[in-house]
Amino acid sequence: MFTQQKKTTSIKRKMLSVVLFPIVLLGAMIVIFGILLLYRSYTESIQEELASATSVLLNCLDLTVEGDYSYENDMLFKGALNLTDSIVLSRIKDNSQIDTTIFWQDTRVLTTIKDENGISAAGTKASESVVNAVLQNGNNYYSNRLDINGVAYIGYYMPLKNSDQSIVGMVFAGKKSELVYDKVFSILLWFAIFSLIAIVIAFRLSRLFSNQMVFDINIINGFLKTISEGDLTATLDDRIVVRKDELGAIGLHATKMQDNLRKLIGTDPLTSLFNRRSCNNKLRALEQDKEEFCIVMCDIDWFKKINDTYGHDAGDYVLVTISQIFQENIKDCGFASRWGGEEFLLVYGLGLQDTRAKVEQLQNTIREFNFQYQDKSFRVTMTFGIEGDHTGSSYEERIKEADNKLYVGKNDGRNQIVC
Ligand code: GH3
Ligand code: MG
Ligand code: MG
Repeated sequence: MFTQQKKTTSIKRKMLSVVLFPIVLLGAMIVIFGILLLYRSYTESIQEELASATSVLLNCLDLTVEGDYSYENDMLFKGALNLTDSIVLSRIKDNSQIDTTIFWQDTRVLTTIKDENGISAAGTKASESVVNAVLQNGNNYYSNRLDINGVAYIGYYMPLKNSDQSIVGMVFAGKKSELVYDKVFSILLWFAIFSLIAIVIAFRLSRLFSNQMVFDINIINGFLKTISEGDLTATLDDRIVVRKDELGAIGLHATKMQDNLRKLIGTDPLTSLFNRRSCNNKLRALEQDKEEFCIVMCDIDWFKKINDTYGHDAGDYVLVTISQIFQENIKDCGFASRWGGEEFLLVYGLGLQDTRAKVEQLQNTIREFNFQYQDKSFRVTMTFGIEGDHTGSSYEERIKEADNKLYVGKNDGRNQIVC
């Protein structure tokens, strides 16, 4: 059985790079675009959340009590209601981690914002850009890079108006950047981890696939190598031949090529009988397996005369016809080989008596056969030497004995069997 011989890595590397390149490229694109999209949609949703928190706070103040805003003795009033005592801002903070601030003009008067030391930002002022946009131009203002009392914020500002639409201050809702980015970062981290896992799985699967493929290619390669070195005895793993792809087809062709080469080098091209070389191999195998067999050496009588009288092609026709008669006679009990020229070696897997009976049949068939070549018809006889099954003698010695008996038959007038 042939198994993998020499490892080749180049095709494996090529296959891996062909498969891996698109996987990595696609994976990287998915991760990059995914992160950008996630980041964008999250920041957009934060902006919406802060805008709605700001307008909710404004509506809340408007609906609580009628009247305009005023600021007296460090206290903010809406109508007669002192907003300084309101717990609305701290409620919002408790429920949503959103800090809110109410400005009187550009100054924070009510706020949940505190600095690092826990000191309230009340009394501090809004930045110039916020004042410009909101107080002076009456616009809403959003920024994800605010610095409030040394703390980074994402926040939304809206103008605070009295009933005559005059702007008296601002309302602010914001979240500490740190809180927002921590959340964004953890979402993106999970996304990146899952993408990475998917890439690793795809990589592993493609490696497994290419490994199997390359493994089978190497098996076929090794099998072809043994054939190229002249060894036709190897067998190809069945797993390859039953593959339903091109590799299976290559494997099948390789085994067929091996079969045909075996036939080519083991058979005689004229008669299609085994040649001397394969006959020797088969006899060696029979001897090793301790099989019983008889050896028959036989030769066409006066063959040279046939050639001389009817021509070389007629001689070939006789060789072919006699070979067919051999095949018919021996097909169930042995094999025939062309030993050389018009000499044949037959091997019967039978005892001596049965072999002799078979050879007598053969002799008669040939003797009675009407050979017809072109417009000529003629008869042919053969002489046979049979060597029985002697334990202790090698097949080479037994061939010699059969040959000696053939020689005896030739000298004794031909057309006979010597046993
Ligand atoms: P014997 O009865 O003693 O065997 O006489 P023979 O004429 O058969 O033997 P010999 O050895 O004198 O001649 C054998 C001839 O067989 C000579 C050779 O040219 C011929 N021969 C050998 N191979 C072939 C072949 O492939 N085709 C043809 N047509 N003739 C062949
Ligand atoms: Mg002869
Ligand atoms: Mg001869």
